[in-house]
Amino acid sequence: MKKIGFIGLGIMGKPMAKNLLKAGHSLVVCDIQPDPVQELVRAGAEAGRTPADVAARTEIIITMLPNSPEVMAAVFGADGVAAGIRSGSILVDMSSIAPSASRQLAERLAPQKVAVLDAPVSGGEPKAIDGTLAIMVGGPQATFDEVRPILAAMGSSVTLVGEIGSGNITKLANQMIVALNIAAMGEALVLAKKAGTDPARVFEAIRGGLAGSTVLEAKVPKVLAGNFKPGFRVALHIKDLANALDTAHEIGVPVPLTSQVMEILQALKVDGRAQEDHCSIVRFYEDMARTEVRK
Ligand code: NAD
Repeated sequence: MKKIGFIGLGIMGKPMAKNLLKAGHSLVVCDIQPDPVQELVRAGAEAGRTPADVAARTEIIITMLPNSPEVMAAVFGADGVAAGIRSGSILVDMSSIAPSASRQLAERLAPQKVAVLDAPVSGGEPKAIDGTLAIMVGGPQATFDEVRPILAAMGSSVTLVGEIGSGNITKLANQMIVALNIAAMGEALVLAKKAGTDPARVFEAIRGGLAGSTVLEAKVPKVLAGNFKPGFRVALHIKDLANALDTAHEIGVPVPLTSQVMEILQALKVDGRAQEDHCSIVRFYEDMARTEVRK
């Protein structure tokens, strides 16, 4: 089995790397924070000093970092992946970044004979822990075929969507749909509560019908419990919708609903809630209606 490098051991990367170890892969890991590296070493991984060191010691390098600038820094910065990677290796960037940045990664690494996949994920921390993420991939078919068994150790659905960048286009679509669903949920639950109807009973009544969704199943219990611990942070959703708005405007696609939810997220950030779970969108509606959904 090829040795795997894993760079970025945050909320998502740490459990994903652990699942690769459980599946029997050898791992060299690094992060700018020492604690998660030590945790992975205790679980059986080797520690890499820098992204360049990780790349020099492995053949398939996975990155799971916040956004395009961090990925560019970890790959092309001093002691970055590009400084250590060997010809014939594969870079799989699983971060949610701008599709244009994914294409840049592939173009800039092509002269070193390095193939690149963009492979962002959906499902959040619980599915990262269970190894049941949805993984949406862009890149060459042959590279995808080689890496697919590795991705399958982290996700229950692994789909090649198209050429490089299309994984992140798919992720932007996913994030637009999730944000709008949470906003619709917030609007509706605040309405129910202020009308004197128990939001928990409303959820029970509608979850099996057309309005039922994975978003409702994941987020309504959190909102009812007043639990806004992330999960998926407001700050990261702002990042994703900024990438969605930029990408949409570059190619001439107006996205009026996405821009409205972006402004709700911006209001939450001003309110000091950037590190809360994105289900805090409900709080924006609660504040406007002076009504709390939670029990
Ligand atoms: P996170 O902030 O918890 O983790 C990012 C990790 O990268 C941190 O441990 C940080 O120290 C490390 N890091 C940053 N710069 C680095 C560098 N130059 N070199 C090495 N390590 C570096 O973020 P996360 O929640 O794990 O998200 C990672 C990506 O996955 C993001 O693009 C996010 O949008 C996406 N995502 C997150 C979720 C979620 O629910 N959290 C769900 C789906 C997708």
